[in-house]
Amino acid sequence: MTPCHHLDPSTVMAYAAGTLSLELGVVVATHLSVCAHCRRQVRDAERIGGLLVEQQQAATIDAPRRESLRAAMLERLDDAVPALPPVPQNDAESADPDRLPKPLHPYFGPSLSALKWRWMAPGMYCIRARRSGGGSLFMLKIAAGKSMPLHSHGRSELTQILQGAYSDALGHFAPGDVADLDSDVLHQPVTVPGVPCICVAALDAPLRFPGWLARKLQPLVGL
Ligand SMILES: [Zn+2]
Repeated sequence: MTPCHHLDPSTVMAYAAGTLSLELGVVVATHLSVCAHCRRQVRDAERIGGLLVEQQQAATIDAPRRESLRAAMLERLDDAVPALPPVPQNDAESADPDRLPKPLHPYFGPSLSALKWRWMAPGMYCIRARRSGGGSLFMLKIAAGKSMPLHSHGRSELTQILQGAYSDALGHFAPGDVADLDSDVLHQPVTVPGVPCICVAALDAPLRFPGWLARKLQPLVGL
């Protein structure tokens, strides 16, 4: 699984700084479990953050010492970035299609087949996280070849595809891909024919549906 759609740099920075909501952080961690590219981005962001803290501390000490710390810091930034451990390809856990990614276990359990889906609308099912930090964390199962209501978002939405696929104006999203959207994006995902699309999503504000039917649906589905 080599993802084509990755985390936005602002999401990477917020995750590294520990300022994302719990719900968005769970989806980020799920993406990182399959994406070496974004793991590298997070590690670089953590490294830069650590250097900035050191720099702030250095500002409180005398000039010669500050200069030597600055030289040491620049030297470390020039160092070659060590390689991350490779993504496991063939271990029993990642090879089992019924096994959910590890970051989801505390919120949804370990098994895809054991999930208790709740009906939302024809061909659409939802399951909410067992616990949350106050925002929305949920899994969606959308039947193949189905169009979701057109919607935008109050703030951020992160969606990680686990199974199946969908397309919208931003492209084609398949297993491993993450859609990292902000409030400017108005989109209407359509799932591809074949298998249902299963994804895990987090919002830090409610969805905004422009259509009257979708607005009526919103309180019913609790999103
Ligand atoms: Zn990625």
